[in-house]
Amino acid sequence: MAENTEKRTDVNELGEFGLIDHLTKNFPLKNKSSFKGIGDDAAVIDNGKKMTVISTDMLVEGIHFDLMYSPLKHLGYKSVIVNLSDIYAMNAIPKQITMSLAFSNRFSVEALEEFYSGVKLACERYNVDLVGGDTTSSPKGIIISVTAIGEVEKDKLTYRSTAKVGDVMCVTGDFGAAYLGLQILEREKQIFASSPGVQPDLEDQSYLVGRQLKPEAQKDMIETFRKVDLVPTSMIDVSDGLASEIFHICKKSGVGAFVEESGVPIHPDAEMMALKFRIDPIACALSGGEDYELLFTIDPKDVEKVKYIAGIYIMGEIVEASEGIKLHTKGGNIHPIKAQGWKHF
Ligand code: ADP
Ligand code: MG
Repeated sequence: MAENTEKRTDVNELGEFGLIDHLTKNFPLKNKSSFKGIGDDAAVIDNGKKMTVISTDMLVEGIHFDLMYSPLKHLGYKSVIVNLSDIYAMNAIPKQITMSLAFSNRFSVEALEEFYSGVKLACERYNVDLVGGDTTSSPKGIIISVTAIGEVEKDKLTYRSTAKVGDVMCVTGDFGAAYLGLQILEREKQIFASSPGVQPDLEDQSYLVGRQLKPEAQKDMIETFRKVDLVPTSMIDVSDGLASEIFHICKKSGVGAFVEESGVPIHPDAEMMALKFRIDPIACALSGGEDYELLFTIDPKDVEKVKYIAGIYIMGEIVEASEGIKLHTKGGNIHPIKAQGWKHF
């Protein structure tokens, strides 16, 4: 028998983005309508007058969610939201979704109906149509794959790669809450595992738990941008953690960033819970993830346009790449921000 000399590389050696780059590097775009391929929050297809943006995300039981504490209705809702978030991140308006499911015989019709009630709620609130999908079986658990399709005028498309030195860095909403919500749910799960009679104490943590189980996408913000006639110079949605997204914008745009700790919005409930868990609130905000807020940059001349919009915060500035990506702490220190996030494999 021939000796197996094939090299075996563990996917962890490359990491998520290294792996994607590696697998997709030999796929040059051939068609004129394939305007933008891999590398941003969504792909862009040129349909002449309007641009179509497309994004896909997959959610796997046991990796992205735990049915011990994710109600199926919330899961249906969230699986749509995380995809719409990528469409909004291109400054586009989502119009359609497709939903593909693989599930084991553990799931009943009633359970799937519950899941679809959440999907329906998201479709109604965000004004998108469910136009297709695929249904198949899996040996274990449930896997959800959603594709979202949106529209945008060519001159409003917003990429990760177009931030310029001198631009002002802004964010919507607040950070770290979804991560802390997850910590609370994990803690309750442990307590439940050791003493099943104990009822979970989630009432007073409804903000944090809600941010984890039922996030929203930034529809209102994208509509506001249109109202005030603002086109950000770059944009990304915050799914993997604020620090990681700052890195994406900087790496793709070939720039650095200077972030004020005092400019990073953190909800008071998140601040309190972080301290209770003995974690630095700013670490939760920077590395937590699943906030589904927008991180974007604007030309300094547009600062007046965002200054008075509730829910937008100025957080920092784009600097030369050689200056790195740094945090100016409340204590007056300056240190490099580390990219973290994603460790699913
Ligand atoms: P996000 O965090 O915004 O969902 P991802 O990190 O999942 O983005 O993806 C980054 C880019 O890589 C996107 O353009 C996405 O379409 C592309 N991508 C991810 N996985 C694959 C894959 N297996 N094959 C081809 N392209 C991929
Ligand atoms: Mg994204």
